[in-house]
Amino acid sequence: MDEDALEYHRTDPPGKVEISTTKPTNTQRDLSLAYSPGVAAPCREIADDPLAAYEYTAKGNLVGVVSNGSAVLGLGDIGAQAGKPVMEGKGVLFKRFADIDVFDVELDEADTDAFVRAVAAMEPTFGGVNLEDIAAPACFEIEERLREEMSIPVFHDDQHGTAIISGAALVNAADIAGKRLEDVDVTIAGAGAAATATARFYVSLGVPRGNVTMVDEHGVLTTARAEAGELNAYTRPFAREAGGDLADAMRGADVFVGLSVGGIVSEEMVRSMAEDPIIFAMANPDPEIGYEAAKAARDDTVIMATGRSDYPNQVNNVLGFPFIFRGALDVRASEINEAMKVAAARALADLARRDVPDAVAEAYGTDSLQFGPDYILPKPLDSRVLFEISTAVARAAIESGTARREPDLEAYRESLEA
Ligand code: NAP
Ligand code: MG
Repeated sequence: MDEDALEYHRTDPPGKVEISTTKPTNTQRDLSLAYSPGVAAPCREIADDPLAAYEYTAKGNLVGVVSNGSAVLGLGDIGAQAGKPVMEGKGVLFKRFADIDVFDVELDEADTDAFVRAVAAMEPTFGGVNLEDIAAPACFEIEERLREEMSIPVFHDDQHGTAIISGAALVNAADIAGKRLEDVDVTIAGAGAAATATARFYVSLGVPRGNVTMVDEHGVLTTARAEAGELNAYTRPFAREAGGDLADAMRGADVFVGLSVGGIVSEEMVRSMAEDPIIFAMANPDPEIGYEAAKAARDDTVIMATGRSDYPNQVNNVLGFPFIFRGALDVRASEINEAMKVAAARALADLARRDVPDAVAEAYGTDSLQFGPDYILPKPLDSRVLFEISTAVARAAIESGTARREPDLEAYRESLEA
């Protein structure tokens, strides 16, 4: 695999992306339209009305994938330059799944103030910013401040991507298990970027905050630990009175969410959970507990999801960010807000309940995909994901008042299908 990947990236031209032009450049006249002196005309239009940038430049289809390389995949703090293949790869996924262009921007900047200033200053360039692979807890403040300062969507995918996709999975898993989100007890292993955003998002979906227990390396997040200054502003709201370790927190839980490290959940812990438990073990590359082990631990129905493509129910961020940005860009949204995220999750959940075209099942080497414990999320290569999720996000942007353009949504959906 390593040698194949190196070869893939090294093959001339190096890397995975290039710029291509979209207007004629054959004649002297073409060039004087593309650049001086003709280009002055669109410049003047934009100087008069900044939103005209969406008409005369590529801004409206251009996302900045911005990282400082401080938490790259499973590789850790490898630095901005070493993270560039990942950011270029993110651009490949944006293009492949939603035809969105990306400039990857690797900033060699560990200081939060300086990083925020640098990204905010790039607002004229982009229609949106996808923050990527920035370590917790700095990532929370960086995103919050940039959302505040910028009037284009800013979205830290490592936080919200996982939250939204696993949130869609939760909606469907709870339904299959006959549980109501208002009643479920959720135990989350991990208190980092993904786990914190996931806890907050599940509350947006209807899980009572008091039903969520978070566990990090040192045990349950408690009010005592909060008072001792061990928690940050984003995890503090989830602090519980009762302490304990992961095994304590899992006893009787309806839902286990793993966004921590591999192998920390035993079959014994799975057996201690409530009837028909839901287990999303999403640590990569090795889940908190393997698919087979979790299924084998009990006789009732275990609904299991992981981050892996070789088992059912892969929680894969590519189900989210391309389509969320597609919908946001197409209505010129000034942000990606909670309503848009919830709309994306609900649209994903709904799509998984519908019949799957044979061609999609074939692309995944199976005869059929049918809503049930082993199919609670649509597949990324299902082309319906594009028009369902993007349209739902666009609608939510319009309804929540953040859209700066309001296309007819039926016509919009059809344009995506075409
Ligand atoms: P992160 O910010 O570094 O957070 C990791 C968290 O795990 C920290 O809160 C850490 O606790 C906690 N942890 C470490 N060992 C633990 C243990 N033995 N028991 C309980 N908690 C423990 O990382 P992240 O970006 O949130 O990602 C976390 C994991 O989720 C990674 O494995 C990542 O690959 C996976 N992930 C999967 C998907 C997906 O499948 N779609 C998406 C995103 C992330 P301390 O704070 O005490 O150190
Ligand atoms: Mg990432």
